[in-house]
Amino acid sequence: MTPGTRSRYLHAMGLPVWTLREAPVAPAAEAVPAADVSARPAARPDNDAPVEALDWGALEARVAACTLCPLHKGRTRTVFGVGDKAADLLVVGEAPGAEEDRQGEPFVGRAGQLLNAMLQAIGLSRQQVYIANILKCRPPNNRDPSLQEQATCTPYLERQIRLLEPRAILAVGRIAAQWLLQSDRAIGTLRGRVHRYGEAGTALVVTYHPAYLLRSPLAKAKTWQDLCRVKELIVEEQ
Ligand code: URA
Repeated sequence: MTPGTRSRYLHAMGLPVWTLREAPVAPAAEAVPAADVSARPAARPDNDAPVEALDWGALEARVAACTLCPLHKGRTRTVFGVGDKAADLLVVGEAPGAEEDRQGEPFVGRAGQLLNAMLQAIGLSRQQVYIANILKCRPPNNRDPSLQEQATCTPYLERQIRLLEPRAILAVGRIAAQWLLQSDRAIGTLRGRVHRYGEAGTALVVTYHPAYLLRSPLAKAKTWQDLCRVKELIVEEQ
């Protein structure tokens, strides 16, 4: 999403719009005598730094301490993301479920086992990709994330995408696909073609969520086509 689009979303929902601060003006040279250097306060922790400026470690710490939406009250653990931070492929799901909330890792329940098998089918292990969700905290009773929760949480995912610079993104399920593409179209119409995400124009493929595939195994054939396209893109998008 472009910064302009995000600003309009946040503004429409009455959420504060984050902007980069001006660089602080350097103090005059004589303001701090050399002898006093050890007495200076330690570098300011990055609590105030915008999400867009955080590195992996600071971003994970920010997510772990996040209280920006009410979901933090019900969580056991935040679910930041897992995998290779130099991965060619980023898989984006919806939100943690019960097992993910317990373990602090995305896609570790039954849907996760199917996702692992889907990745294996195109020759990729879970460790070779990066896996994250639209939301970092579990919605109660696994309900769909609200638009406000998505708007509040996705700056974290956007930062992860900037840090990763993957060759391709696989959006699994309607929630991830619609948010990343800023579309309200049905997943059946979003899948089957290559989209472009963000300023970098990262290739993005939509497929069905593994939890849906567990209920509707006939959709696995279409998912297989989507996975084959992803595999091709990883090679093509160099
Ligand atoms: N479903 C998701 O979308 N993400 C998870 O992490 C687990 C289940």
